[in-house]
Amino acid sequence: MTAKKPTPKELEGLKQALIGLRGVLSGDIKNLHEDAFGINGEKATVDVEADAGSDSFYQEFSLELLQHDETALREIDEALVRFEGGNFGKCEGCQEWINKERLRAVPYTRFCIGCQRKAERDS
Ligand SMILES: [Zn+2]
Repeated sequence: MTAKKPTPKELEGLKQALIGLRGVLSGDIKNLHEDAFGINGEKATVDVEADAGSDSFYQEFSLELLQHDETALREIDEALVRFEGGNFGKCEGCQEWINKERLRAVPYTRFCIGCQRKAERDS
């Protein structure tokens, strides 16, 4: 399975999604709307929505499953660290770029779908 490296624009959208998710998981939903989206000014909100290509981008993974999920919160923090290191979006198993759809569905994932399945099989 080969996927292309996410573009800087896609990465920025995913980063904003992670920050927004982090706000949700921290139980700070107000923050999701006011601070997380506004980090780069109002323009960020517009860009994120445009990048997503869908206005349900956030709703897909935000409020339902993940609230107060501390494991996911840790994963998000680590994903943000990977952003700093320039490794975000890369599979920790096979070092390939993770499929874009997968990143959108689970922006804090560290494995491509192949390695994730393998890990689940082996555990
Ligand atoms: Zn992999």
